[in-house]
Amino acid sequence: MSKYCAPITDMKFHIKGNSAIDNDDAGLILDQAAEFSEQVWGSVNQHGDQNGCRYKDGKVLLDPKIRDAFKAFSEAGWMGISMPEEWGGQALPEALSSKVSEMLTSTNQSLCMFTALTSSACKALISFGNDELKQTYLHNMVSGNWTGTMCLTESHCGSDLGEIKSSAKINADNSYAISGTKIFISTGDHDASDNIIHLVLARIKGAPEGIKGLSLFLVPKIFPDNNEYNSLSCIGIEEKMGIHSNPTCTMAFEEAKGFLVGEENGGIKAMFKMMNEMRLGTSLQGVGMSEQSFQASYQYAVERVQGQSLDKKLRGQTTGLIGHADVRRMLLTQKAFAEGGRAFCHYCAELLDREKAGNDAEAAKLLGLLTPIAKAFLTETGQESASLAVQVYGGHGYITETGVEQIYRDGRISTLYEGTTGIQSLDLLGRKVLGDQGQALMLFTKQLHVLSKSILKQDSDTELIQLAEQVKTLSKEWPQMIQNVGMKALQDHGEVGAAAYDFLMYSGYVTLAYFWLEMAAKAEAKLQDNDTTTFSESFLKGKIKTAKFYFARILPRIQAHQAALQSGAESLSLHEEDEWYF
Ligand SMILES: Cc1cc2nc3c(=O)[nH]c(=O)nc-3n(C[C@H](O)[C@H](O)[C@H](O)COP(=O)(O)OP(=O)(O)OC[C@H]3O[C@@H](n4cnc5c(N)ncnc54)[C@H](O)[C@@H]3O)c2cc1C
Repeated sequence: MSKYCAPITDMKFHIKGNSAIDNDDAGLILDQAAEFSEQVWGSVNQHGDQNGCRYKDGKVLLDPKIRDAFKAFSEAGWMGISMPEEWGGQALPEALSSKVSEMLTSTNQSLCMFTALTSSACKALISFGNDELKQTYLHNMVSGNWTGTMCLTESHCGSDLGEIKSSAKINADNSYAISGTKIFISTGDHDASDNIIHLVLARIKGAPEGIKGLSLFLVPKIFPDNNEYNSLSCIGIEEKMGIHSNPTCTMAFEEAKGFLVGEENGGIKAMFKMMNEMRLGTSLQGVGMSEQSFQASYQYAVERVQGQSLDKKLRGQTTGLIGHADVRRMLLTQKAFAEGGRAFCHYCAELLDREKAGNDAEAAKLLGLLTPIAKAFLTETGQESASLAVQVYGGHGYITETGVEQIYRDGRISTLYEGTTGIQSLDLLGRKVLGDQGQALMLFTKQLHVLSKSILKQDSDTELIQLAEQVKTLSKEWPQMIQNVGMKALQDHGEVGAAAYDFLMYSGYVTLAYFWLEMAAKAEAKLQDNDTTTFSESFLKGKIKTAKFYFARILPRIQAHQAALQSGAESLSLHEEDEWYF
């Protein structure tokens, strides 16, 4: 089985020291996180997959090794890394903590979901909870003594939350009695923390129908003031494809006592705070999948000897798999998605930091635009990378022992939860682009234009001219694409649904092209200045070569998405019911 090694050098390539933390301290934290994730979480990843969780007498029991690995995480203080000091956190920038999250999800996606859900629940409480709720719950959640969940899904509704039936009735003491059954609740019950704090979407009696009538409630498993159990229970866990050591629970709330978070009927706004955090966290899962897949594939491709290369330099020689152009195509695809995705996530984390610092409307707008792209595109490409890992390993990739099939199985959920790729696509095209007349998109494409122009105006005959020319063209083409869809959508809203997926994938490839150009330009500048102390010459040259690969072999996929998008809705509406013949 291959060994994951946290890509610290590449992470450091993005980190910029600031007033909150200097480069040396940031580097130290990354080193410690790498050690923890590789040694503690990585070492139980396959064990957790094979041993799963157990449901016994109404309780969920984690495997003891998984439970201990989670406790080690809390005890080491990692949960509070980006939380405010007021609640016991370390208040470090998201730009740094997102790197730690990537390492954690790369070594153990199941365990990382415990922490991601808790951290997002804390952030929703910080933004929308009243003082009493914050004082009662946040310290223990930030320390990891208590974990959090997100309870949205019901058996009849997942994507369409407007159909939620769980109800809330006000009690005499202004708390609420919550009733209903939620399915697929990650970490809904387990024995790794002293308490579990559920954030539940439900409808107050008499509230409007649809999402506008939903409110958010904090519903503890155990009441902190008297240690009594609330009237809620886990009534079963799912058998599933991957993330076996993360319990997926059916939760029954039977007049469970809950407390309003935010305003009555303002639940979606508060829950979106949590979901957007989770969506960015899920995009890191995609990057983690690409990185693990790349590392495992590379190690195998170097070791495994098979066949003779057709390459000029190696012709006639027996070679490692890496001697075959087609295998290198797969490795470079994974590397391009991993490192390009990391740069993209880093930028989103910086936007989060700007937003947190306050009153940055531009950061909020950009984050709104980029979140669905990051979530959907980076998980789709993460899955492509994982599938390629199985391919690089050949038949051995299909065998459990090698470990790469687990990356694929665990990661397969990432394009489904936190809003499927289809739902992210509608959010992007319908709400974030057409809904604001393309303003946020223009803000971002301006950055593409500025970067490409700055490279093009350099006197030196830089290798990057051609790449910059392409980005400059795309900065104009991308917003133009929506004009056509927008016009058609005025006649038929179905045009938006038909165009959304291709628009999202197009947007993802163009966004990654921008980040690859930026990284290549930075690498080239360092090479020209002979600045190779922190980042070696090979690392910098590798960056430029991967950028060229991306532009030559991956970016052309946009043409297919563009053609599909422009073909309109007609080809998707041709079949009469009987014509779906099988
Ligand atoms: C392992 C696991 C963990 C989970 N964890 C949680 C959790 O912690 N908390 C929680 O609340 N939920 C959780 N979920 C639920 C998850 O978020 C939902 O499964 C997901 O949102 C999709 O909903 P659905 O399964 O009902 O699919 P559906 O909504 O039925 O969608 C099925 C398909 O139809 C498409 N589709 C649906 N509506 C539209 C539309 N309007 N336009 C275009 N396409 C559409 C979707 O894209 C998808 O491809 C989890 C699920 C799993 C499997």
